[in-house]
Amino acid sequence: MPDFLDTEHTEVLRTAERLAEELAVLAGRVDESDIGSEVREASKSAGVFGMTQPMSVGGTEAGALALAVVRDTLASRNVGHLPGVFGPSPGVLADVGEPLRSQFLLPYLAGELRSGFGFTEPADAPRHTWARRDGDDLVVNGAKSYVTGGADADFINALVELEGTESAMVLIETDRTGVTLKQRFGTLDGSHHAAFTFTDVRIPATHVIGEAGRGLRRAMSQINATRMAIAADCIGQCRFAIDLVEQTLVERAARHSSTDEPARVGTDLQRVVLGDMRIAAYAARSALYRTARLLDAGENAVNEVMAAKSLATETLSRVCDDAVQLVGGTALVDGHPLADILRRVRALRLAEGPTEVLAANVARGRLDLGLGRL
Ligand SMILES: Cc1cc2nc3c(=O)[nH]c(=O)nc-3n(C[C@H](O)[C@H](O)[C@H](O)COP(=O)(O)OP(=O)(O)OC[C@H]3O[C@@H](n4cnc5c(N)ncnc54)[C@H](O)[C@@H]3O)c2cc1C
Repeated sequence: MPDFLDTEHTEVLRTAERLAEELAVLAGRVDESDIGSEVREASKSAGVFGMTQPMSVGGTEAGALALAVVRDTLASRNVGHLPGVFGPSPGVLADVGEPLRSQFLLPYLAGELRSGFGFTEPADAPRHTWARRDGDDLVVNGAKSYVTGGADADFINALVELEGTESAMVLIETDRTGVTLKQRFGTLDGSHHAAFTFTDVRIPATHVIGEAGRGLRRAMSQINATRMAIAADCIGQCRFAIDLVEQTLVERAARHSSTDEPARVGTDLQRVVLGDMRIAAYAARSALYRTARLLDAGENAVNEVMAAKSLATETLSRVCDDAVQLVGGTALVDGHPLADILRRVRALRLAEGPTEVLAANVARGRLDLGLGRL
């Protein structure tokens, strides 16, 4: 359990525990693919749904620690990944002015429009996606190769090189002339993505999101928030996987017990593996909570966020793999929670920055920029 929570965050924890209990019961009796509206209603009445949404649309704009507590707690019951727990968050569209606010942000937050995030580009692209000014318009050319949910998106928030500035985030509707959906594909974790090309796509200059020249900064702030969400989900799932192994070992021992002689839980080797799993999960969890507190204190914690994401995904990957080994073949049967977690975490070690890139960035901060506390 997270230590040293103040009264406010202890209350958040209790709320998350009650919601987790409710969702676990729901997930046990309803097919996960049909569960969205019931999850949404339960989450709304618990006050969790709006935690990722701005106050201007009725959300509560929860801080980093409160979000970490909720995500960790829900994932520890393996319900954090269910659709509908959190309302759509503004992401890179946070704080945009008109006309983007009325035309896109508000309908998006209301669930009427869908968006994708266009950052990753094809490895063989001759140059980064770029935009040039033409009167009151921008003309965009290039490609984005891995837009989650892109095939169903009404618009993509894309990072481009904008002539005369370094970078800008721009909003591109997917039905504009020159936008081509080149490929729709699924990945191991069950999510769907799309690759797009942009050929002389004309968008109004008002589609620049935030300040031109600060696009990369805006994109990175969105990526940081997602990294924290991933880290908290993974930390909770570590607890879920370890608890499940312990429960399995206890049940096995009970089957071999007699009334006179209770069987010992786990072999020596199983106990060592289990202890190592708990030690690794404790370290990763400590990093997550420390990082959340730094963020809430207004510190620049970009390196700590990279460390928390990297530790959490790598640790869950190892913990879940060990958990499968200890539980045995049943853990690999389709639909088993450990099999599902194993699939999901494999993608998370690459998404939002591969582990090696995060490590190289931490080193770059120290060696090239003289920045960072890690
Ligand atoms: C499930 C999922 C969802 C995604 N959703 C989106 C999305 O919505 N929008 C989006 O824009 N992208 C998305 N991505 C793409 C994701 O951001 C990239 O896959 C990721 O950034 C890695 O880029 P890459 O695949 O081009 O691999 P590369 O960057 O080519 O990396 C390949 C290998 O090289 C290593 N490597 C690369 N650079 C370095 C370095 N500097 N130092 C050390 N090693 C290095 C990597 O660690 C890795 O082992 C998603 C990916 C996944 C798996």
